[in-house]
Amino acid sequence: MKLFDYHKATGLSDAQTKTAAGATLIAGGTNLLDLMKLEIQTPEVLVDINPLGEDEIAEQDGGLRVGALVRNAALAAHPLVRQRYPVLSRALLSGASGQIRNKATTAGNLLQRTRCAYFYDTASACNKRAPGSGCDALEGRNRMNAILGVSEHCIAAHPSDMAVAMVALDAEVAVEGPEGARRIALEDLYRLPQDRPDQETTLHPGEVITAVILPPPPKGRQTYLKVRDRASYAFALASVAGIVSVDNGRITAAALAFGGIGAKPWRNRAAEAALLGQAVGPQAAEAAADVLLADAVCHGDNAFKSALTRRLIHRALRELTGETA
Ligand code: SF4
Repeated sequence: MKLFDYHKATGLSDAQTKTAAGATLIAGGTNLLDLMKLEIQTPEVLVDINPLGEDEIAEQDGGLRVGALVRNAALAAHPLVRQRYPVLSRALLSGASGQIRNKATTAGNLLQRTRCAYFYDTASACNKRAPGSGCDALEGRNRMNAILGVSEHCIAAHPSDMAVAMVALDAEVAVEGPEGARRIALEDLYRLPQDRPDQETTLHPGEVITAVILPPPPKGRQTYLKVRDRASYAFALASVAGIVSVDNGRITAAALAFGGIGAKPWRNRAAEAALLGQAVGPQAAEAAADVLLADAVCHGDNAFKSALTRRLIHRALRELTGETA
């Protein structure tokens, strides 16, 4: 690991000033420290933002304000999250391990790097780690990589489970920076890789995430389903956060967000619209899957994800609509 200077933030403006000047913020460090040990990220200055306090979950405008430093384990276990946003609790508990969830923070989870195995291998070409060097995943071992939102420069899948559930819930991110406070729809926090996969978010220089805002809980049933190679501590091959309402046997509202298949937590409003008014049953799932997967771009090893995602949509809708298999 390369030497670095360590500072404890004395306040939000201190963290903003230092990050605007090029410092890297650290809270739980569950992703960043791995990358520093491998010298993939080599910050000269680390600013510890744990003293900022933002570790409360509070009711706000019928929803919840989740402080940026709330630990993933605490968020999953909070009674209001379990009662009103079970999709979020389930997603959190499907991610990482108990030890990591105890350490990882809400904002840190959102800002973990979108990456694939080649990103960690400094002998490989990776446009995200070394812009312009190429992408060994395109023709290499890409079974875990994304099929939606990818580019010829990067096909890494966004790894967060929590973010997928939050996107389905229409969460917003509260940020504060040199130009003041603003809110960003979580879906819009992430950039697609295009020709600059090293640039992952739409945060401006000096902006710090202070909270995630969950709107009032939606009507309907909620679920989070995740398919992975191991029963725990594995990234999603494909996952879905679903929230669906049914009236008189027909689907009246639907939100579906996907993990493991997208360059960012993936939501397709046209696929959701394809469900509206449909009678409960497999035809509805087929209609949504057809729209969602029409844009899929596969690269050999990860082609199975299209069929897997289609089956996942069927399974989620059976659970969410009460349809028997
Ligand atoms: Fe790097 Fe992205 Fe290619 Fe993986 S898919 S090697 S992260 S550029």
